Formats: sequence, C-alpha cells, structure tokens
Amino acid sequence: MTLRTRFAPSPTGQVHIGNLRAAIFNWLFTRHAGGEFLLRIEDTDRERSTPEAVQAVLNAMQWLGLTTDGEALYQSTRREAHLAAAETLLQSGHAYKLDKGGTGKGEAVLFKMPGTDMAFRDLIKGDLHKAAADLPDFVIVRSDGNPVFHLANVVDDIHMGITHVIRGDDHVENTYRHVALYQALGAPVPRFAHLPMIVNAQGKPYSKRDGAAYVGDFRDKGYEPDALFNYLALLGWNPGDDREVMPREELVAAFSLDRVQSKAAQFDFRKFEWMNAEYLKRLPPDSYRARFRRELEESKLLPADISENYLDSVSSLLRERIKSWPETTLQAGYFFTEHYSFDPDAVRKRLKKEGAPELLAALREAFSALPNFDAASTETALRALAETRGVNASELIHPLRVIVTGQPGGPSLFHLLEVIGRERVLARMARPIPA
Ligand code: GLU
Repeated sequence: MTLRTRFAPSPTGQVHIGNLRAAIFNWLFTRHAGGEFLLRIEDTDRERSTPEAVQAVLNAMQWLGLTTDGEALYQSTRREAHLAAAETLLQSGHAYKLDKGGTGKGEAVLFKMPGTDMAFRDLIKGDLHKAAADLPDFVIVRSDGNPVFHLANVVDDIHMGITHVIRGDDHVENTYRHVALYQALGAPVPRFAHLPMIVNAQGKPYSKRDGAAYVGDFRDKGYEPDALFNYLALLGWNPGDDREVMPREELVAAFSLDRVQSKAAQFDFRKFEWMNAEYLKRLPPDSYRARFRRELEESKLLPADISENYLDSVSSLLRERIKSWPETTLQAGYFFTEHYSFDPDAVRKRLKKEGAPELLAALREAFSALPNFDAASTETALRALAETRGVNASELIHPLRVIVTGQPGGPSLFHLLEVIGRERVLARMARPIPA
C-alpha cells in the first residue's frame, strides 16, 4: 500500500505558522518515505472559508515549496459522500437520529460510540487511552442537514487512502472518535502522529503579538522561504545531531517522526532571524546581488545613473551584514544619498563629544593630502594622526563613521570610505554636526 499523507487546512483567514508546520512535517515525512502528499481543503464552513482564505493556503504552500501529488480535494464537493456515510452508519446501527433539543426543528444524526475504553498508539506521543465514560455519542450530521467535521474528515481520509494522519495535537481528543468512526465504517485505521504546538517564550500559544505569526507576514517582511522552512522543521524535531542550517534535501534525508518531541515547541524570533541571515549568506552571489538591487529599487533608493560597479561594491560590503531584506534600506541608504539620516544617540555620543569636531577637521586635512584613497591608505593616515595627537584610534574612528554614515555601526569603515570615494567622504566630513 502506498504511504499517503495529507495536509487538511480549514481556510478561515490567514495561514498560521503552526498549521504550515504541520504541512512541512507531512511533506518531509512523505518525501523521506517516497510516498504521496495530498492537499485537502476543509472548506465546509461556508461563512469563514472565503476564496481569499483558500488562496492564502495555496500561496503559502507555493512560497514554501510544499509540492503536492495531484490536485487539491475541496471538502465542500464531498457533501453527498459524507451524507451517504452517515446513512451507512444509520443502517448498520452505528448511528441514530435524535431531535436534540426536542425543538421539532429536525433531527441530528449521532454516532454511537462503542461504549468501551478507547486507545490508540500515537507515533509521537505513544499509547493514549480514554475511558468510555468520557467518550459520549456525538453529532455527525446537524439537524440542519450539514455533516460535522469529524465525519467529513474521516470519510475523506478513507476516500483519499490516507495511511498517516499527521496534525496538531489539538486533535488528540478528536482522534478517539475518529478511530471509532473508521472501525464502524469498516475502514483500516491510519497511523496517527500529533505534533506539539508552537508556543512563545511564556509558553502561551504563539500568536501575532509575538512577531510574525502568519506565513504571509514572513513573506511580506522579506524573509527567505527556505529559512522559514528550515526553522519550522526544527521546531519540535531535530536531526539527532547538532546540525541546524539544513538544506531541504538534508532535511528530507534526516527526517523521522520518532525524533519529534511531544512537548510544546518554542518559537524564538531571534533564532529565526539568525537562521534567515544564514540563508542570506549562502545565497549564490548573483541571486544575492539581484535581490539587493530589487530591494533598493523598491525603496526608491537607487539613483537612475548608478554604476554596476558601485552597486557591486556596496552589495559585497553588506553581504554578511544584512539579516533580512527590509534592513537593506537602513544599512545601505548612506551609500546612495547625501540625505542619510543620523542616529541621535550616535550623534550625541560621538560627534558632540568634546574635541571630536577638531579631530575630524584634522583627519579631513590628512585625507585630502593622501595620494590614494584606498582602505589601507585611509587606515594608515588615521592611525598616524591618532599617534601624533596621543589619542586612541577609536577617538577618530567612531566620529568618522557617524559623520560619514549617520550610523553607530556598519561594515568595515575603511572599506566603506573607499567605496563612497574621497570627494564625497571629504564633503561629508565638512558638514555641520547635525542638531
Ligand atoms: N481542518 C482541520 C484543521 O485544520 C484538519 C485536521 C486534520 O488534519 O485532520 O485543524
């Protein structure tokens, strides 16, 4: 029998990373085993399942490269099959009709639980049990004629030949009912694996207050999809060694459900940003440069007459420093405009410091006299001046960086001076100290 899994989201808004992580684990498990990974859109909630919400699911999957085998199945098209299954259960005595409130508004169909304790073996959580007394009969078709989640979910998993159900552990309690439904319908019970939920630093469910929580937020903020994929794969799973940055093929090769932890997994945004920066560092130079250029163009920072050489120099200087694309504007702004902004703290600390303007003026003199304005020459000149003045080189380095870039930190100072060029550097050094 083919190993087959599915991702079965209810499209009711944006796609939470917790849901997407379930898709990632399904995908990794299936690609590792060489099975089939299917998509089922559980869109039976007519009010909440909008076309936009469905599109958000499809976009998120595409952005993260979660390829599926075959067309998506829309649960809303399966209503007749769900009702037919309810009919079968009524016929076989596993279900009965009941006018629940006695309102005369119509009868619901209830599934009759077997009346015994239930147990199943979860591939992550181990053996799980529940007492018969805690497993009452439940509605499978409402009195308005609509099939309920439990019925639709199980009937469709049977129809799709799903062998492994991998989903969030908010469904553990449902699973006892689902197992009873499979048995009553005479279908083989799939294996179940319930994933730990994603929590914030306080151990509470991770939400948008903790940083980006929807896949679309990560995309809009310019994070790398491969970094998010890798980070989410490590949320509740590990390869058994200390690898962290793992390209997709490595994740596929290493993945197994028995390394999934059962306790909640904490989303650490700083760790994620570190991962994102690792992926940026690994981008091939051409893709990096193209992406860098696009970011500058979109933020309207790029002068029309910019030379490719200049752009290349700036992008290589910043190569190791940009942790996510939106930072580009702040980090690269001063390379492209004389109207760069000044960090107020840096101005106060470095430029308004006693003696700083005078030292800068002397340094400017020294720079104008240099035969060459490359990184080595400016560094030597600066250190020589510090020596003559009997000050630490940092007394010159810090104010110089702030007057030329507006920022307290950045890439190698002497290299950035070389890229910006003597003329502009001297002009910047002569500008009045910002208020
Ligand atoms: N639509 C359900 C959910 O998103 C499906 C659960 C399952 O995977 O069975 O929670």
